[in-house]
Amino acid sequence: RHLQPIIAKEGVERTYIMVKPDGVQRGLIGEIISRFERKGFALKGLKLFQCPTDLAEEHYVELKEKPFFPKLVKYIVSGPVVCMAWEGPGVVASARKLIGSTNPLTAEPGTIRGDLAIAVGRNVVHGSDSPDNGEREIGIFIFQTLWFKEGELVEWEQNNAPWLLE
Ligand code: UDP
Repeated sequence: RHLQPIIAKEGVERTYIMVKPDGVQRGLIGEIISRFERKGFALKGLKLFQCPTDLAEEHYVELKEKPFFPKLVKYIVSGPVVCMAWEGPGVVASARKLIGSTNPLTAEPGTIRGDLAIAVGRNVVHGSDSPDNGEREIGIFIFQTLWFKEGELVEWEQNNAPWLLE
């Protein structure tokens, strides 16, 4: 009854956030979740998951022609990841700001990558780059699901909503 369909609700923005294998191995899961939790976004899905190669390739399909693509896929499947669906107004762009730029050496201090990483190929976290990609990564896209299956998202109202939203 409380399971949320993976199809997007009207007017709700969602982003797919993932702690990459280096973040899991380095004990940064809690630290990374905290950044989004403290900001005030709502967590609608969460799991520890060993990503298979074909899913990593599909997730990064837009980067298929890049020279670093094979290395990137190996990195993503090198250990478990933590998959998350976060919801809230403007959550996609805001999460990208919290995460910081792709190269951790140029990411601003105060961002996750700026504070916690030093290499572009070990940048601890992923965040969707557009609302459409948020839906592609969390939900159904061309009758196909990527990171979450039907029944894996939970519909719930956080009771602090009146203190977060006007
Ligand atoms: N990446 C890499 N080398 C590069 C650029 C990117 O290894 O020169 C990796 C890095 O882990 C990055 C991921 O590929 O997070 C996806 O690249 P994208 O440009 O989408 O960056 P993001 O959206 O993750 O900041």
